[in-house]
Amino acid sequence: MKITAIRATWLRAPIPAEHAHVSDFGRNDTFNMCLVEIETDVGLIGLGEAKAAVGNLGNYAAMVTLIREEMAPVLIGRDPRDITGIWETLYNGSRAHYATREGRTFPTMGRRGLALCAISGIDIACWDLLGRSLGQPVWRLLGGKYRERIPAYASGGWAPVGAIGKQMTQYVERGHRAVKLRVGLQDKSVDDSAARVREVRETLGPDVGIMVDAHGTWSVRQAQRFARKVEDCDLGWLEEPVSAENLAGQAEVRASTDIPIAAGESEQTRFAFRDMIEARAVDVCQPDVAIAGGITETQRIAALAAAHELTVAPHLWGSAILFAAGLHLAVSTPCVNLLEFSRGHNPLLNDLVEERVELEDGHVLAPAAPGLGLTLRRDFVEIRKALNQPLGDAACTASRKRRIRRALVPRSLRPTRETERTSTRVPVPSAATRTTTSSRKPNQRVRSVASRRPSTGTAATICQPRPRAISTARAKTWSGGAARRAGPRSG
Ligand SMILES: [Mg+2]
Repeated sequence: MKITAIRATWLRAPIPAEHAHVSDFGRNDTFNMCLVEIETDVGLIGLGEAKAAVGNLGNYAAMVTLIREEMAPVLIGRDPRDITGIWETLYNGSRAHYATREGRTFPTMGRRGLALCAISGIDIACWDLLGRSLGQPVWRLLGGKYRERIPAYASGGWAPVGAIGKQMTQYVERGHRAVKLRVGLQDKSVDDSAARVREVRETLGPDVGIMVDAHGTWSVRQAQRFARKVEDCDLGWLEEPVSAENLAGQAEVRASTDIPIAAGESEQTRFAFRDMIEARAVDVCQPDVAIAGGITETQRIAALAAAHELTVAPHLWGSAILFAAGLHLAVSTPCVNLLEFSRGHNPLLNDLVEERVELEDGHVLAPAAPGLGLTLRRDFVEIRKALNQPLGDAACTASRKRRIRRALVPRSLRPTRETERTSTRVPVPSAATRTTTSSRKPNQRVRSVASRRPSTGTAATICQPRPRAISTARAKTWSGGAARRAGPRSG
């Protein structure tokens, strides 16, 4: 089997205003990813995801160029099943032959950052291809099934005091036995964060696991103060209490509390996790498979964690491809005992592929289909791809330009049928003002507020886009059964 082409595509899925949460990262109004597709001479296509950011925002133009222009030419003609060789080739660059001869690494200058994210996407796609070529799920190739299913915690929780208990209750009602809420600088104060946590514990009772994520926004002293205030709330972990660049500070926080510290979603390679573990700064390692170095490198990180009796909970805030990669790792790796399940509005998790993630008693089942077990929805990809094609590109067709322009308009500014009916007629001025307020005739149709061209922005003549209907056909579940596709799953 030979690689004949590697496609990298920036997908950008708008999030309706009513579902866009706000955190310290800002308003999450789109979900973005780089879709990696590796084509082969036997007709198989492998799917991968490369992330340019730990959240759903981010600009993927550089990532797409990196994969298309630098990495793909190196790999054309190679056998995608030689996964380790491909990883080392990309990581070591022109000195890969030294790495082979000496048995150690000779990384390129871009050994971290976008280069590793791109390697991650290619690596995931190679594992998918290996599985597809053998007719086996990836977990079997990683050592076989260690567990039939794995508990999935609900990852969300942005509501303020007075509403956070209800929000987390909704997650529990969907079947989760553990939940995670955001704290840190998105709140008014450390006390505010502690009050939100206390509300959640009092609402959910003692039997539901609660974790918190500060997104690395606190100082050491703020994190310690928070930990003291919630020490009776039985937290499962405190995630990224301080900046990822402050390893010593993270270790200081860990040493001052018995709340386990989770971290690592933006770290790359086993070397970064080695440093974190050696600094005694972490209890739960959280590599992101689409950032840390793919399935190959995450396996190495898990082995490292296990050697120190630490656990791994993969960071899975991404598309269905990232989730599948984490799931295959989780069911085959003993030290992975918990899975992140995004409860933010996430079209790329719920609509990118035909298969749906189904919870069973708070758990996700091991998938049964070959490779990652995913069937890409080409119609979904084409629409989301269009959002990022430059309007000046000669290959951008007129219809595609219309779709781009429609998608660029914030949903809150789009006229609904109701507002079109009620707001596009000019009120009849009184006789006293008729001659001075407007030269329009009574009831003359005018452009509504929503149809005005915004003063900034790239392109925005406005017409109401029809939201693309999500198929109501029965979708496949990850374990091979069928489930009804029933609208957004996130909250
Ligand atoms: Mg996090």
